Amino acid sequence: LPIGRYFADACRRYADRPALIVPYQHVRWTYAELAEQVDRLACSLIRLGLQPGERVGIWSQNNSEWVLAQFATARAGLVLVNINPAYRRAELEYALNKVGCAALIVSPGFKSSDYLDMLYDLAPEWKNGTPGRLSSARLPSVRLVIRLGDSTSRGMLNFSALLTGPADGEREALETLNERIQFDDPVNIQFTSGTTGSPKGATLSHHNILNNGFFVAEAMRLTADDRLCIPVPLYHCFGMVLGNLACLTHGAAMVYPSEGFDPLAVLETVERERCTALHGVPTMFIGILDHPEFDEYDLASLRTGIMAGSPCPTEVMRRVVDDMHMREVTIVYGMTETSPGSFQSQTDTPEARRVSTVGLVHPHVEVKIVDGDGGIVPRGETGELLTRGYSVMLGYWGDEAKTREAIDVAGWMHTGDLAVIDDEGYCTIVGRVKDMVIRGGENIYPREIEEFLYRHPAVQDVQVIGVPDARLGEELCAWIKLRPAQTISEDDIRDFCRGQIAHYKIPRYIEFVDSFPMTITGKIQKYMMRDAMKEKLG
Ligand code: ATP
Ligand code: MG
Repeated sequence: LPIGRYFADACRRYADRPALIVPYQHVRWTYAELAEQVDRLACSLIRLGLQPGERVGIWSQNNSEWVLAQFATARAGLVLVNINPAYRRAELEYALNKVGCAALIVSPGFKSSDYLDMLYDLAPEWKNGTPGRLSSARLPSVRLVIRLGDSTSRGMLNFSALLTGPADGEREALETLNERIQFDDPVNIQFTSGTTGSPKGATLSHHNILNNGFFVAEAMRLTADDRLCIPVPLYHCFGMVLGNLACLTHGAAMVYPSEGFDPLAVLETVERERCTALHGVPTMFIGILDHPEFDEYDLASLRTGIMAGSPCPTEVMRRVVDDMHMREVTIVYGMTETSPGSFQSQTDTPEARRVSTVGLVHPHVEVKIVDGDGGIVPRGETGELLTRGYSVMLGYWGDEAKTREAIDVAGWMHTGDLAVIDDEGYCTIVGRVKDMVIRGGENIYPREIEEFLYRHPAVQDVQVIGVPDARLGEELCAWIKLRPAQTISEDDIRDFCRGQIAHYKIPRYIEFVDSFPMTITGKIQKYMMRDAMKEKLG
């Protein structure tokens, strides 16, 4: 089913169950209440003249309006375009023009009117424009801007004004429209994280993301009694699909602890709302576990949740299981282009495998692991992971060439990730093809060295990259973030390695740093580390 019809059914099925809890906005809606708000917004969007297939951007941090926009655009046959709240003017301009957004939903931003100032800078014409019929030289496709919050802004409509009851006949028109929407129509354009370069806009269908949300929730055994704490961004598939859609398919409650990630808000919200599940990327879980007030909160209500987005040190997984009570935590491996999940551990996965692998392949997804020539490698050997099935995106929006590079003629998505699958089907992600280091002809997987260095008691976090070397092609370089009040030297690290790992895996360069270049989703951008080292080493 397309998301709109599925949503209406699910909201009837779970009518009295809690759907959305956003403590900082004083929002507590049941599924029936959520459906009512969504349909009012959908009717308003149609009344404003938006046509099925048109793109609607949303540029905002997490809040209740985000969910309404997600489901209302799906109900109205529109395509939601998730825009990173960290984008500044130039990136916003690029994204809106790239996909030709007809409308934009915007929140005022971190500083009261930060986002609005950036918009008016780009489109000063809007200040004298008629709401709903805007035009500007630099954002030619945008004719409608909807702002969140209580104040008004020139040329823009207020979101809350679109939540008033629909006029006669509008609801029937909405149902009729929903009958016409097909399951493989596009519903969402998501930009990839930009971990390896500029973000790419993946076009995803109703079937792509709804089905994925369903299977992810199945693996977590979500039910209508679960309350899922979602501190991960909604503008990314992690929040929107593994969070919101997974909850919808199983009647669980979505709980947003804060607008942007805040470890203390997560601790407070999990305790107060008795959350049973919690999502996060590894850096978020590290932030929560290392928070000075961690021990003061009761997290015993937690059972499961998802760790995803980047490789997670085994040590951190163990602490999530033991100290956060997330006995059934599952790791998901996926990518924006595949809706996103492809592998996931199950609730009954034995702990050793739960903490060290990304689990088993998802239902209805095919995978193979190939060598440089495209041949399938024997079980237990490393190669590039390819996936195929319902979850593969429709394509990169407006970029035929990149789409063909990513998805081959037989429909296989080339993930760019190195993986190995064991005899029982458990998959381990070894790293990205682009991050593999070839030193003097020897393939080195940075992840292995990171895992090893992570065991040093003074090390809080570590990232290993390859840097160019005239003699060996590449040399290893480790960036290390030490725990507070620790002072150790490069030689201490080398001594720690000696005799424990092969000599060629001992990093030639060691840098002590306070932080790593990161995407807003908390992923480390190794290409930026490599650029910085190239500059430094000349
Ligand atoms: P870009 O494609 O713009 O460079 P990105 O690949 O980080 O950014 P996403 O689609 O958000 O954008 O992330 C998908 C990637 O994240 C995967 O290709 C993989 O490298 C990594 N990843 C996701 N989940 C896991 C996991 N559980 N373990 C290891 N790596 C993971
Ligand atoms: Mg990618």
